[in-house]
Amino acid sequence: MYIELPENVKSIIEVLYSNGYEAYAVGGCVRDSVLGRKPKDWDITTSALPQEVKSLFKKTIDTGIKHGTVTVMIKGEGYEVTTYRIDGVYKDGRHPENVTFSSKLTEDLQRRDFTINAMAYNDKVGLVDQFEGMKDLQEGIIRCVGNPSERFGEDALRMMRAIRFCAQLGFHMDDNTYKAIVQLAPNIIKVSVERIQVELVKTLLSENPDYVQKFQEAGLFIDILPKIDKILSGKYKKSTLTMLKLSEPTAIFRYAALFYSIGYEDIQEILKSLKLDNYTIDTVSKLVSYSKNTIEENEPAVREALHKYGKDMLNLMLKYEKTVIATKEAVTGILLPARKKHLAVIENMVSCIIERGDCFTLKDLDITGNDLIEYGLKGKEVGRVLGLLLDIVIENQKLNDKQTLIALIEHL
Ligand code: ATP
Ligand code: MG
Repeated sequence: MYIELPENVKSIIEVLYSNGYEAYAVGGCVRDSVLGRKPKDWDITTSALPQEVKSLFKKTIDTGIKHGTVTVMIKGEGYEVTTYRIDGVYKDGRHPENVTFSSKLTEDLQRRDFTINAMAYNDKVGLVDQFEGMKDLQEGIIRCVGNPSERFGEDALRMMRAIRFCAQLGFHMDDNTYKAIVQLAPNIIKVSVERIQVELVKTLLSENPDYVQKFQEAGLFIDILPKIDKILSGKYKKSTLTMLKLSEPTAIFRYAALFYSIGYEDIQEILKSLKLDNYTIDTVSKLVSYSKNTIEENEPAVREALHKYGKDMLNLMLKYEKTVIATKEAVTGILLPARKKHLAVIENMVSCIIERGDCFTLKDLDITGNDLIEYGLKGKEVGRVLGLLLDIVIENQKLNDKQTLIALIEHL
C-alpha cells in the first residue's frame, strides 16, 4: 500500500525519525487517501513527547498540550502532531479523566473509534492496520475498534460519528456496532449540543443526507431532539427524506428540507437549541414559512415580492419551491406541470425585473425623504408618503420620476 503524503507531512515525519522517534500519518487522512478522497487535514501520531515535538520545529502552537497535541506550522499550514496516547477512565461518558503518553503505536491505534479510522501510514513502514481497517474499508463497514458497548460507553459522541461516517462514505454498520448504539442511545444526553450539531450537519451535508433517519431509528434523537424525532417518524417522514436527497448540499437548504413539515416557531426553537448562528436560524425559518405563500404571475406582484422578501431570499424561495415540486412528484408519482410552469414564469419575471433595474425598494425611488421634507412634510408623514409612493411605483414603473412623484403627493 502506497499513500502519497504531502511534502510537509513527509518532512515532519522525517524530522521526527532523524531524531530517534517514530511518526505516522494517522486516522481520517489515511482512511480518505485509501478511498481516493481528498483528506481535509493530515494528522500525525508520534512517539515523541509534546515538549520534544516543540523543540524540533521552529513554529508550533500548543493546541491541546495536555492531551499531547502540538500544531506544527510549516509554510503557513498547520499539522496536528499528537503523542501516542492511552485514554484513561471515562467517567462522564464523554471525556477521559486523564491521558497517558505511550511509546507504542498499537496502544494509540487501540483508543481510536472505528477500524477504518485506526490505521497509520508512513513511507518507511507502510500501512499499519491492526484491526482489519482495510478490509472494512473495502467492504464498506463501520465497526468499532474492540467491544462496541464499551467504546460507546466511554464516549457517547462515537454513536453519532458512526452514523455520520456511514452517511459520508455510503457505508453500512456492523451489526454489533449498531446493536450497541441502540442499547446505549440514552447516553447521548452526555454530549454537548455543539458536538451534536456538528455531527448532524455533517450528515445532512453528506451524499446520503437521508441517513439522518438512522439517528432517529437508533433512538439517538428522542431525548435530545424530540421535535426532529417526530418529523422523522411521523407522516412526513418519506417526503422529508426524499426532499433532503433532492436538496442542494448547503446547510440552509438541507435544514429547510428537514423542517419542511413544521412551522416558523418550531424551526426557530430547534435551531436555537442547536446553538446555530443567527443567519442560519433566521434564513431557514423564514424560507420554510414564506414558501407557503404564492406569488401571482404579473410583474407588479413579483416586484412586490422582491420588495417584501428581498432579492436573496426570493431566489432561495424559488430554488426551494423547485425542490418541493420535485419532492412531491417523486413521492406521489404524479407530475405537476402547472406548478412547474408557474415557477418558471416567476423565475423569468424576476430575471427581467433585475436585469432592467426596476424600482422595488425605497433606495431605487426617484425621490428621497429629504425631497419630501423640502416639500414641507414632517416626521412620520415622510416615511408614510415614501411607502405609498413606492407602492405606486411597484405597480407602475413609469411613474418613477421625481416631478411625477411630487405631483402625486397631493393625491395621497
Ligand atoms: P473528519 O475530519 O472527516 O471528520 P476524522 O476521522 O479525521 O474525520 P477527526 O474528528 O478529525 O475525524 O479525528 C481524527 C481521528 O481521531 C479519527 O480518525 C479517529 O482515529 C480519532 N478520533 C476522533 N474522535 C474520536 C473519538 N470520539 N473517539 C475515538 N477516536 C476518535
Ligand atoms: Mg479530521
